[in-house]
Amino acid sequence: MRIAVVGGGLAGACCAHELAVSGKDVTLFDMGARGPGGRASCRPAEGYCFDHGCQVLAPVDRQFQNLLSNWEARGIVTQWEGRVGTLEAAMGLFTPRHKTTADVGDGAPAGDEGDKHCESPDSSFCGSGFFGALQAAKLYVGAPGMNSICERLLAAEPNVTVETYCRVTRVDWDGEQRTWRLDGLRGQSLDHSKEGNTPYFLGTFDALVVADVMAGTPGTPGTLNIDQEYHPLEKHFSAMAGVPPGSLFSAMIALPRALEGVPFDAAVVKGSTDLQWICRDSSKPGRGRDDGHECWVVVSSADFALRMVQAMPLSIDGKYNPQTQVYLDSIAPKLLAAFQDCVASFLNNGENLQPTYLKAQRWGNAAPATSLELPHECIHDPELNFAACGDFCSPEFGAHGALRSGHAAANLI
Ligand SMILES: Cc1cc2nc3c(=O)[nH]c(=O)nc-3n(C[C@H](O)[C@H](O)[C@H](O)COP(=O)(O)OP(=O)(O)OC[C@H]3O[C@@H](n4cnc5c(N)ncnc54)[C@H](O)[C@@H]3O)c2cc1C
Repeated sequence: MRIAVVGGGLAGACCAHELAVSGKDVTLFDMGARGPGGRASCRPAEGYCFDHGCQVLAPVDRQFQNLLSNWEARGIVTQWEGRVGTLEAAMGLFTPRHKTTADVGDGAPAGDEGDKHCESPDSSFCGSGFFGALQAAKLYVGAPGMNSICERLLAAEPNVTVETYCRVTRVDWDGEQRTWRLDGLRGQSLDHSKEGNTPYFLGTFDALVVADVMAGTPGTPGTLNIDQEYHPLEKHFSAMAGVPPGSLFSAMIALPRALEGVPFDAAVVKGSTDLQWICRDSSKPGRGRDDGHECWVVVSSADFALRMVQAMPLSIDGKYNPQTQVYLDSIAPKLLAAFQDCVASFLNNGENLQPTYLKAQRWGNAAPATSLELPHECIHDPELNFAACGDFCSPEFGAHGALRSGHAAANLI
């Protein structure tokens, strides 16, 4: 059986991996120019590299902990023993997470369900204490970057073919043959500022898994074209299009020296209108530098992102509105200033906080503001040999939700 998976984030990569383990022949398409990973990716730039999306995998229940322990043994993730806690931005007060959470030790999560009631009101779609980072007993990352999780999952099985830098633009169901035909664009022709590129035929498949809510949502970079009068995926795509996006911005900041006076490696920021997470990216395993420079990543508050997106919408008249360099250059200094405010009280007066590299990233759909209520944590249509998966299908937040949904789709397709 030949299965196409559209999307190589955590959900798609997990689904493709499990399908291949069960003997299926899988082709995974991802439009990322730097390989699979989606929001769990890293950005190389000017000799630096940043986890600019997903920051940490925080197992707040036993099932997720078991999966990550298994992956740790296989070298897919590694533990990060960073100093993580809460930063009261206005007071410059850092509280380590073990002082705010009952840490029950030795791999056991703080509670099977985690504490879902202590998030700040404006970041509710990021889950408790920033995707569980304050609650989980152990924290995990991909090494040397977050993208290595998807890369390793996909490389582990020989019967997965990965086509990156390839955007599927159209899927058509042949009811007689019971097959899916896929068309799409490759490489430079993906450029959203250019119109009129002719899609290529990508292949014919017995089953289709769509692993991103964007594919079913008009006006996004991944929108799949189903512009026929009647398309069998119409009802599934309209359910996906109804999932409200939760937007965020991140900023990648490289400094010429380590901020030794700052007593944490990552903090959930309280009391800042602009930031909710600040992280010394260089403190994660495999990211240390020998030139003394230090990489930081900050993640905006949902409120900051809302203000920016109101001023410059994600789509205009149903058409994707790409993030231009000029636009991002107008956002980055705002996030840098918020970062400087957060760490200023830990530094000596006049300590140099001018970055050697600074760049912002808009995440139009960083995490769904709400998820679909589904019986199996994925959309499944057995008549069409079709499934859709991703964090938007699971009641669990972030990476955990994406992985659960990818696993469900692999079981059902
Ligand atoms: C700034 C930020 C910080 C975060 N921090 C955390 C955290 O610390 N912990 C946590 O648990 N979660 C975190 N999250 C959320 C987490 O990253 C996501 O929930 C998770 O990665 C979603 O995985 P996914 O597979 O569902 O989707 P995605 O990662 O979005 O994967 C979908 C993939 O499909 C591809 N695609 C879409 N359409 C097409 C098409 N037509 N053709 C080809 N390819 C296509 C996309 O390019 C993408 O690679 C964070 C997110 C952001 C943005």
